[in-house]
Amino acid sequence: MSSRTEPSFRESVDLMFNRAVSLMDLPPGLEEKIRVCNATYTVRFGVRLRGAMHTFTGYRSVHSEHMEPVKGGIRYATGVNQDEVEALAALMTYKCALVEAPFGGSKGGLCIDPREYEEHELELITRRFAYELAKRDLIHPSQNVPAPDMGTGEREMAWIADQYARMNTTDINARACVTGKPLNAGGIAGRIEATGRGVQYALQEFFRHEEDKAAAGLSGKLDGKRIIVQGLGNVGYHAAKFLSEEDGARITGIIERDGGLFNEDGLDVEAVRNWIVKHDGVSGYPDAQYVENGALLLEEECDILIPAALEGVINLSNAERVKAPLIIEAANGPVTAGADEILRKKGCVIIPDMYANAGGVTVSYFEWVKNLSHIRFGRMQRRQEEARHQLVIDELQRLDDVMGETWSMSPDFKQKYLKGAGELELVRSGLDDTMRVAYQSMREVWHSREEVTDLRTAAYLVSIDKVAKSYHAKGL
Ligand code: NAD
Repeated sequence: MSSRTEPSFRESVDLMFNRAVSLMDLPPGLEEKIRVCNATYTVRFGVRLRGAMHTFTGYRSVHSEHMEPVKGGIRYATGVNQDEVEALAALMTYKCALVEAPFGGSKGGLCIDPREYEEHELELITRRFAYELAKRDLIHPSQNVPAPDMGTGEREMAWIADQYARMNTTDINARACVTGKPLNAGGIAGRIEATGRGVQYALQEFFRHEEDKAAAGLSGKLDGKRIIVQGLGNVGYHAAKFLSEEDGARITGIIERDGGLFNEDGLDVEAVRNWIVKHDGVSGYPDAQYVENGALLLEEECDILIPAALEGVINLSNAERVKAPLIIEAANGPVTAGADEILRKKGCVIIPDMYANAGGVTVSYFEWVKNLSHIRFGRMQRRQEEARHQLVIDELQRLDDVMGETWSMSPDFKQKYLKGAGELELVRSGLDDTMRVAYQSMREVWHSREEVTDLRTAAYLVSIDKVAKSYHAKGL
């Protein structure tokens, strides 16, 4: 164990920010203006449950309002505190800037273990929390738009949207007050999978660049690569599922709250997920070796490590023993500033959180636009696109008929080409494009500036520059 002390999550984010900003030439004072959190609201409210009054503590932090609305998830966990929401809000500012989602950064949290409450109790608590935030415009379609995070999902977002609509009965844009809603309550196709899907697109893009793979000592394709995932929740499950089912990667390790599973031949993600749902943990799962201290699997040999649960899991106490040559931060802040330094020295490549998990906010942005435009994506174009494709198919069919044996259309071409893009296809396409463009903006800085030796610093440089430019445009 190192004698160095670990900074808090917020300090860790600030240290990484400072490292990047030291390579920039910002006007005096602007650096501090960008770094500091504008405001954090703490609320304590009571809800009558099980015959007694229970008091809950929640937060909503606004890091930067250089663009509005500000955006960021709401987390339900017992460890939620001011330092954590401020760190997460800051990451949201940089994340939105990096992927060009036109938002400032915010984050919220409630100190609660959602597993201890019945559904109707959680609804009462969520509605009351939403009421407290909405009455201060900390939930508002044009000022502050939450989304799901750890411990929350579609269900909570639907309650929040409904609570806001009840308080703002004439607001035609009320649904845009929160994203991550179910489809039937103003949500968008592909939002649940979005963050995990974004992790997949990020890795696909990384693997398109020989130079980048070489920096991590990797080569070839994603196919067959050994992956260890921590946290099989929303983000980890979707990332592991898509990478194994679509890219041929092998999920050799899965770490959950109650321990870890390891199987060199690859785990069946769907089967593990079903096991967790049924047994409330991974313990007892038949087709793998069970490791009681799951965190030890973070140190196991693999090609790619995906921490997708909590912050600070790779820290001064274990970084030296982490063997993965490539880490993609699906969770926010899984690698502390000190661990980041140790891993960089070892030659490990880290795809940073502000980029790696930006798929969620990207699709949230699409959902917000959908809510404001009051129309589903693809509704106007789909059939027209299909009609135009039919023209091409008809011509090819004529050719097919006259060519006889010498040429014919490939078997499934007709069916694939005829299908116009629906909302899900458009969302995935927009997300893929966003992840590719953002990666390229980071790698350009990484490879073109000698003093920039890692993707995280590159990501900060790109995003801080964008935030600085929007302050400049405002005359600040
Ligand atoms: P989630 O609640 O759906 O899943 C978290 C998973 O981690 C659960 O399966 C939980 O059992 C597991 N877990 C908790 N403590 C653990 C521990 N000590 N060791 C191993 N596993 C543990 O949450 P999520 O939405 O998937 O979020 C995970 C991370 O991704 C968080 O850092 C969150 O901020 C980040 N993130 C989420 C989204 C999103 O769209 N949901 C977007 C961006 C970033």
